[in-house]
Amino acid sequence: MSSADRPGPVEMAASEWDSPMYRDAVGQFERVAEIMNVDDNVRERLSMPQRSLMVTFPYRMDGYSEVRNAVGYRVQHVLTMGPTKGGIRFAMDVNMGEVAALAMLMTWKCAIVGLPFGGAKGGVRIDPHRLTRSELQRVTRRYTAEIINMIGPQKDIPAPDLGTNEQVMAWMMDTYSQNQGHAVPAVVTGKPPELGGSVARREAPGRGAVSLLPSAALRCGVKVEDARVVIQGFGNVGRYAALAASELGCRVIAVADLTGAVYNGKGVELGKLTRYVDRTGGVAGFPDADEIDPGDLFDIECEVLIPAAVGSVITGENVDRVNTRLILEGANNPVTMEADRVLRDKGVFIVPDVLCNAGGVTVSYFEWVQDLQNYFWSENEIVSRLREIMIRAFEEVLEISIRRKVDMRTAALIKGIDKVTKAKLVRGVYP
Ligand code: NAD
Repeated sequence: MSSADRPGPVEMAASEWDSPMYRDAVGQFERVAEIMNVDDNVRERLSMPQRSLMVTFPYRMDGYSEVRNAVGYRVQHVLTMGPTKGGIRFAMDVNMGEVAALAMLMTWKCAIVGLPFGGAKGGVRIDPHRLTRSELQRVTRRYTAEIINMIGPQKDIPAPDLGTNEQVMAWMMDTYSQNQGHAVPAVVTGKPPELGGSVARREAPGRGAVSLLPSAALRCGVKVEDARVVIQGFGNVGRYAALAASELGCRVIAVADLTGAVYNGKGVELGKLTRYVDRTGGVAGFPDADEIDPGDLFDIECEVLIPAAVGSVITGENVDRVNTRLILEGANNPVTMEADRVLRDKGVFIVPDVLCNAGGVTVSYFEWVQDLQNYFWSENEIVSRLREIMIRAFEEVLEISIRRKVDMRTAALIKGIDKVTKAKLVRGVYP
């Protein structure tokens, strides 16, 4: 086939992984590859994941007589630079296209902060909140068994994501270890510390994101002290982002989650809110703030907006209502490509997901290294190394952004794609 007949990457990937999120991820990659003039062969290769596994499996409900089935996925985007790494999400909208898009984002993220991993992602299409603890355990163990040949400390290392947590990682580690005949802590990260989990892992994505707030605020003329912060999501990422922002002297004025949204112009008391959410399961009904319509969250005037819940929440439909100067993307892919263009034109400074929430995978990397060496670091060491890596990556991305006159998302992707492209070219094509 001549190169004129060569199908475009989006067409190549069209049927297997097609979804709005995958099209967005490939579209972003294509846009930046064009600017960078990436080699055509590598460009096509990187626009589709290397390995995609889809499984279906049965799990028994607590009544014992009823057996249901679930669909699960694991996608590894690039295996060139080392094992792959990426979270597992349990949610009803998980599909192959979404998982493949997130795996691609993980590749760029790891490369941007300089970790020796390719990207991966996995998920099961279930609603974890509608399962009992024992049902969730059976789903996790059977899913792990189904993808067991794909994962391992030198192959692919899962971590928590939306709808999963330390306990789910502990069950995954146990299932893998039972099959190996010995304990293998390094097969997953985000485990409880008793199993070789790293201290400060749970807080890492939220804290890492907010560690960039002072540098980002400086770039867009926002004063950190008393800056008004609005947060969507109060889970692993949102809650620690809120706490870290408040420790910096910011005022968290609104928080939303699946149950609702609350607003307090004087600042939400986060200690109280955390205890309330732990007790009730969500922010709705929190007594020390006003209940607001979650659909109005982005209308609230603030200096810093932290979407830390799910993807594609700021879209062409609602972007005009966004009333902020700085966005820290705690969630993966919270801003669609269309909305991104509008925000850039409005002059909103965005710290993109691939850089902003990389604190999670960075401390996961620390955890993996500690497990392999059986030598554990202190919390101080972890927190200071995380800060150092995040701030260095931010400065490097900022330098690219200034030198090439591009926004931070484009600059971050240039950094990540450049590293992966070079790695691909020096390894060459087998055979
Ligand atoms: P989580 O399940 O712990 O929390 C998700 C939060 O978002 C919950 O408070 C939930 O109620 C809320 N939420 C869900 N859907 C919502 C909606 N439609 N509107 C408003 N709120 C909603 O998940 P998490 O681990 O905090 O992950 C959040 C995001 O951050 C995801 O996009 C994930 O991919 C990304 N991320 C997570 C990590 C990690 O290590 N946990 C690392 C990097 C990025």
